[in-house]
Formats: sequence, structure tokens, C-alpha cells
Amino acid sequence: MVVVGSGITGAATAAALAERGARVVVLDKEDGPAREGSGRAQGSLRVQGRHPSEFPLAIEAMHLWTRAAADDPAHDAEFSTGGNLYFATDARERPMLLNLAD
Ligand SMILES: Cc1cc2nc3c(=O)[nH]c(=O)nc-3n(C[C@H](O)[C@H](O)[C@H](O)COP(=O)(O)OP(=O)(O)OC[C@H]3O[C@@H](n4cnc5c(N)ncnc54)[C@H](O)[C@@H]3O)c2cc1C
Repeated sequence: MVVVGSGITGAATAAALAERGARVVVLDKEDGPAREGSGRAQGSLRVQGRHPSEFPLAIEAMHLWTRAAADDPAHDAEFSTGGNLYFATDARERPMLLNLAD
């Protein structure tokens, strides 16, 4: 099987296929993996502050990341869960922060 794109979507898809026994090749237009969005991400995972319809997917994603970090054969994954800290720099952001704290 061929997966086009070596960002998190392509890498996770390829890993899931390989786990199920497929022989997978990942192709990318760049000269290394994750040179686009996935290589620029801050690495922040968030369940808080989502639309309720997104909660099941966000919670499932946290489980998957927890498992991926635990299964990391090189033991170089940095993964910690401790909530999110939001800062307001403007009083107009207060209602939004209070809403997140509910
Ligand atoms: C600055 C920044 C910070 C972010 N911070 C966070 C964060 O903290 N938390 C979070 O959850 N999300 C964050 N995101 C969003 C997150 O990075 C993306 O949602 C995610 O990386 C998308 O992954 P992807 O695999 O779908 O796409 P990409 O990572 O963009 O991967 C697509 C891949 O496909 C390749 N490709 C494209 N077209 C072709 C082609 N024609 N042929 C071959 N290969 C091709 C590209 O080169 C690329 O490697 C951030 C994004 C940015 C830009």
C-alpha cells in the first residue's frame, strides 16, 4: 500500500496499516518526513474548550497519544498531561476564559 504524505495523518495511517499486516510505503514531496504542518505544530493536545460533539474524538485521541508514547521503542517521546493554561492579555477575553473554566 502507498500512503501519500508523511505528516501525522500519513504516518498514523501507515502505522495503523502496518500493524494490521500491510506492507506500506510512505511517499512525500519533501526530502524528509513531516516538513509541513506536522513539523511546525507546537505539540499541544486539547480536550478543553471544544464543541461537545468533538469530545469523543478528542478523548480517543488522548488515549491514542498516551498509548503511542508508552509504546515508543526509542523511549524519546515526551508526553505529559496536565491541562491547559490560558492567558488573557485583554479584559475583553475574560468571558471566554470564564466560559472555558465552566
Ligand atoms: C505553527 C503551527 C502550530 C500548530 N500547533 C498545533 C498544536 O499544538 N496541536 C495540534 O493538534 N495541531 C497543531 N497544528 C496543526 C497541525 O500541525 C496539523 O493539523 C497537522 O499537522 C496536519 O497533519 P497532516 O498530516 O494532515 O498534514 P501535514 O503535516 O501538512 O502533512 C501533509 C504531508 O503531505 C505532503 N504532501 C502534500 N502534497 C503532496 C503531494 N502532492 N505529494 C506528496 N506529498 C505531498 C506534505 O509535504 C506533508 O509532509 C499546528 C499547525 C501549525 C502550522
